[in-house]
Amino acid sequence: MKTPLVEMDGDEMTRIIWKMIKDILLTPYIDLKTEYYDLGLKHRDETGDQVTVDSAEATKKYGVAVKCATITPNADRVKEYDLKEMWKSPNGTIRAILDGTVFRAPILVDSISPFVKPWKKPITIARHAYGDVYKDVETRVPAGAKAELVVTKADGSEERKLIHDFKGDGIIQGMHNLDGSIASFARACFNFALDQKQDLWFATKDTISKQYDHRFKDIFAEIFEAEYKEKFARAGIEYFYTLIDDAVARVVRSEGGFIWACKNYDGDVMSDMVATAFGSLAMMTSVLVSPDGVYEYEAAHGTVQRHYYKHLKGEKTSTNSMATLFAWTGALRKRGELDSLPALTQFADQLEKASIQTIEDGVMTGDLAALSSLSNKQTVDTEAFLREIQVRLNRLLA
Ligand code: NAP
Ligand code: MG
Repeated sequence: MKTPLVEMDGDEMTRIIWKMIKDILLTPYIDLKTEYYDLGLKHRDETGDQVTVDSAEATKKYGVAVKCATITPNADRVKEYDLKEMWKSPNGTIRAILDGTVFRAPILVDSISPFVKPWKKPITIARHAYGDVYKDVETRVPAGAKAELVVTKADGSEERKLIHDFKGDGIIQGMHNLDGSIASFARACFNFALDQKQDLWFATKDTISKQYDHRFKDIFAEIFEAEYKEKFARAGIEYFYTLIDDAVARVVRSEGGFIWACKNYDGDVMSDMVATAFGSLAMMTSVLVSPDGVYEYEAAHGTVQRHYYKHLKGEKTSTNSMATLFAWTGALRKRGELDSLPALTQFADQLEKASIQTIEDGVMTGDLAALSSLSNKQTVDTEAFLREIQVRLNRLLA
């Protein structure tokens, strides 16, 4: 390796898996160079969460990061870890600093069929990670009140629109987005489609939301026309816009193999639907891509707390390490591409191949055993699964 990967360590069961992956499948084979940041909750607390900010800045500097799942503290965690503060979600902090878009894609294996019959190839969901209902203002409105939308412009002038004259009690919600954020989202999606050589789909409800959703549609169209149309033609891929309800129907009938760009809420909901339909959250990878081409790879699942508590009691767990392993291979492959290190790229390919081979051979963790159609299934524990991958990796590399 020439340039180090930014390594963001994390919490609980995924932190255990993190170390196992490095010890069993990485350091014996490659001269692994990383710049290490400990995003474990204890260290985030000790540094006043500065370590999260530093790791994001380092990602900007080097270009590629790999992240372990981390705890987003809630009231229980504040007690459990005796925290100074209820620190914000590290993913949120990193996403804000990198201005990135999250792409989630399933890892497919032949013996686990998606619940949706026509799906043969992965569907990658790109979720806009700013605004809308996630940064809204809401309130309850009593009967007899009148609600208006008021915009006070820089020159002091006002624009008012009636939202509703409330005859009975009701509710109201105000939300916003930013042209700049939508444009960053669009560019991240167009770049990722070119990177993956896959079509890009985008959908909103612009027929009903003639200003708000329509703005998303227009920004995507303008940027596509001005900056990407020719690149897409050369790559032999398409940009396709439709209404969100039409998109949902088409996605279910499709074979997969494309990227589906979603507004924030649609992406939240649809990514859980797509992940579940492909089988398991433990087989879902996630990459944050910034508009200037910085990449942060991780698993889509959390720290698997329930398994960790079993592990602490000395019990064996059968936790699936595939998504965390693919975060590593994704990051190593990208580093290999950027630094022109074909040996590193090939290693990433071989490691993925060995891990898929392991599952196809019938050796898998409990979550997959419940889904797999193989008759010769063997459920193994967390470490044994990685050792089995190692056996196959050695064969492939020999
Ligand atoms: P989780 O870690 O995703 O796990 C929920 C359940 O899903 C597990 O109990 C397990 O089911 C199953 N599961 C998830 N990943 C698995 C794997 N690799 N192998 C086998 N089974 C797996 O969600 P959580 O327990 O609700 O959250 C734990 C912590 O993760 C929270 O503190 C949350 O803040 C954090 N989190 C972090 C991220 C991130 O860093 N990206 C994302 C989400 C959540 P069974 O128990 O039935 O076996
Ligand atoms: Mg969700």
